[in-house]
Amino acid sequence: MSILMISHELEEITQWSHAMHVLYCGQMVEAGPTKKVFNGPYHPYTQALVKSLPDYAHGIGHKAPFYALKGTIPPLQHLPIGCRLGPRCPQAQKECVATPTLVKSHGHSFACHFPLNREKKKCNPC
Ligand code: SF4
Repeated sequence: MSILMISHELEEITQWSHAMHVLYCGQMVEAGPTKKVFNGPYHPYTQALVKSLPDYAHGIGHKAPFYALKGTIPPLQHLPIGCRLGPRCPQAQKECVATPTLVKSHGHSFACHFPLNREKKKCNPC
């Protein structure tokens, strides 16, 4: 039996699921086994979600800001060309005006021209 959970509560998802899919502006940007995606995200948006979680174990300073990507989610009638995260992505480069295809590697999928936690060279679809 499978159960589909849809949530913005990343901590809950990691506790209750074996696999997760991360979407941004209606497109899947990363998917794979939950622990693998959470502990070593390839996509900058997934990394931003993980970094935005409050670190209660180490304490949170008074009025300390939580991590967030700059900018806002674009309205659906004004989506950017190419990678939809492009205008907000800290890793964006000129190649990102082309829509990244979904790359699958050892059960872990991602759609990014410059994935994190991997070799720094550009990835080609497998
Ligand atoms: S394709 Fe480019 S803009 Fe999109 S997430 Fe990857 S590095 Fe960022």
